[in-house]
Amino acid sequence: MVQSAILGFPRMGANRDLKKATENYWGGKITQDELLAEAKRLRLAHWKIQKDAGVDIIPSNDFALYDQVLTHIQDFNAVPERYTKYKLNAVDEYFAMGRGLQKEGVDVPSLEMVKWFDSNYHYVKPTLQDNQEFKLVESPKAVNEFVEAKEAGITTRPVLVGPVSFLALGKPDRNQTVDPISLIDKLVPVYIELLKKLKAAGAETVQIDEPTLVFDLAPKVKAAFKPTYEKLAALGDAIPKIVLATYFGDIVHNVDALPQDIYGLHIDLVRNPEQLDEVVKALGPKTILSAGVVDGRNIWKTNLKRAIEVVESAIQKVGKERVIVATSSSLLHTPHTLASEKKLDAEIADWFSFAVEKAAEVAIIAKAVTEGPDSVREALEANAKSVQARATSKRTNDPAVKDRQSKVTPAMYNRKSEFPVRISQQQEKLGLPMFPTTTIGSFPQTKEIRIYRNKFTKGEITAAEYEKFIEKEIEEVVKIQEELDLDVYVHGEPERNDMVQYFGERLDGYAFTTNGWVQSYGSRCVRPPIVVGDISRPAPMTVKESKYAVSISKKPMKGMLTGPITCLRWSFPRDDVHQSVQAEQLALALRDEVVDLQNAGVFVIQVDEPALREGLPLRAGKERVAYLDWAVKSFRLSVAGVEDSTQIHSHFCYSEFQDFFHAIAALDADVLSIENSKSDAKLLKVFVDEAYPRHIGPGVYDIHSPRIPSEQEIKDRIEEMLQYLKPDQLWIDPDCGLKTRQWAETKAALVNMVNAAKFFREKY
Ligand code: GLN
Ligand code: ZN
Repeated sequence: MVQSAILGFPRMGANRDLKKATENYWGGKITQDELLAEAKRLRLAHWKIQKDAGVDIIPSNDFALYDQVLTHIQDFNAVPERYTKYKLNAVDEYFAMGRGLQKEGVDVPSLEMVKWFDSNYHYVKPTLQDNQEFKLVESPKAVNEFVEAKEAGITTRPVLVGPVSFLALGKPDRNQTVDPISLIDKLVPVYIELLKKLKAAGAETVQIDEPTLVFDLAPKVKAAFKPTYEKLAALGDAIPKIVLATYFGDIVHNVDALPQDIYGLHIDLVRNPEQLDEVVKALGPKTILSAGVVDGRNIWKTNLKRAIEVVESAIQKVGKERVIVATSSSLLHTPHTLASEKKLDAEIADWFSFAVEKAAEVAIIAKAVTEGPDSVREALEANAKSVQARATSKRTNDPAVKDRQSKVTPAMYNRKSEFPVRISQQQEKLGLPMFPTTTIGSFPQTKEIRIYRNKFTKGEITAAEYEKFIEKEIEEVVKIQEELDLDVYVHGEPERNDMVQYFGERLDGYAFTTNGWVQSYGSRCVRPPIVVGDISRPAPMTVKESKYAVSISKKPMKGMLTGPITCLRWSFPRDDVHQSVQAEQLALALRDEVVDLQNAGVFVIQVDEPALREGLPLRAGKERVAYLDWAVKSFRLSVAGVEDSTQIHSHFCYSEFQDFFHAIAALDADVLSIENSKSDAKLLKVFVDEAYPRHIGPGVYDIHSPRIPSEQEIKDRIEEMLQYLKPDQLWIDPDCGLKTRQWAETKAALVNMVNAAKFFREKY
């Protein structure tokens, strides 16, 4: 019998229940016991969903209150001393690492959080010491949750982040020099202990995620796989059987790193179906192949016929008894259930499948290959119909958009003049001081804002009332920025639910869910819009608010747009046309918006591209070169329609530009703001080495945490930056937008930031 498996299930619950519970806990509205009870309720509900769908192999320990890597950091006692010294209880220590803590004598920033591979999920980076030791906690979460499921009558397959990936995804702590992978011999015993405990608890198999196998690995990392897994294999029945899971790419270039006698190997056959042959050749004679054929990263209904063909071809190669049908990756990246979507147009809804529906899909595919297609005839016929309907729908195809794309010329990618000419015109127009201060766009999205937006969405207030409310919000943030004495204002984005969804709602070719939330980090969820067809802009999207903001501001007001790549990456893209085509359509729509903003008197325009880097194909080579070409072109196409005197900003939520620098430079943005507060200022060295001529605002404080940075801390940060950047090149700004923050901490932090900037203005 061919079994079906799920690699991980979304944690939030049908109504973002986990988000609500954690935020209530942080806000002191519920107790820790209440939080943990809610988490337990969700785990049980999710196991039951998978069981009821007929899934054979159900994951546990895929759950996390904040992040699954953070769970490992804590369970292995890889917690830096700056947290342990407070002797917090485990849950509070965990959250302190995730989001920082500043309360009752505790003052500690969060650990660094970065993108999980090329997804929009963020994990907490293991932060390691030169003298790092690991020790398994007494009551490891993986064991607890396995037991919890077992007690509920469900035998699960626990999920662990593998030891090699855990280290390879980590970094040395500030001022430490340890190469994380050199700690492997210290870490493996902890896994052994954990695996033995899981076995003792009754776990027959475990899923060990080693997704770093899809990367181009450093030789030391690559060399760590074999000895590590051979050590585990040598333990035989003392530990559960290991299914090594990879996803988000192919592992053909690393098959030589795979241990021979591994029990099972999972590969992503949605992203890279062509890897099947090569991987199978490298498998040991008994190794089980877990075939990831149901997309864990997108929301399209699986083409069951095609998926069955892929599984059948795997069966032909290794035999039925050695194949598992699985999701390509964890379903963490998909919304909970399509059943919550009451407003979705029926034609479109029929094209989608969320986590709950995907659970049914893996079960159907497994049944089809086990018992033959007749056993699931009805399901296959219905599926074929939906697939066909989508392929032929008029909603996917707009000839006017295609026509405009065919008329894009090379000149449309270039500004009128080079940067030196532009910047002097901009200085004249804007008259900014040295070390100009600004923010990244959003100000706190208060409860009041959300209430009004909800009322408006539900039709309880009129468009005019809502607009008035938004204007009042803009007035307030303008006043606050005046008081703070910032130099370039923003309108605060009160009208925006989300930086991508907002634009999607104003573009043709997009569809929206009401409840399709996906975890982005911690309790933060996003509701990605879905690109269903050719994209165009029926009317201006942001001009009204920006124009109003300009009209009441004494200083330059920055218009705020989301760039084409970010719009695409943070949406669920089409899987029927290449992403470069979708990006160009978005760029053309944004180009019109940028020009409209300028014509409305907005002379500083920021086009955010925080997703540019995560879109980078995970491996060097042809695909990456091609991506960079079309991604950079689409950014340039979106902004290059303006006059030289209009200043184009762009923003990125990361600071690692080493392997990516030329793309950033090629964007030709007049000002870049980047995240930097939690990384070493050394990372800015690349801008010096490459003689980057334009302006840069590396974030001077972390906005993911409510913690207020002191003025001195910010000054120190700026001082460090000045070791690398020229004073007349440097802007002073926070790491990112402030929408997730409260007003009190926002104002306090910005007062300190502006004072720090003024200090340097005096000095130079
Ligand atoms: N302008 C956006 C904001 O401030 C940028 C957010 C982001 O980069 N993620 O919210
Ligand atoms: Zn950002």
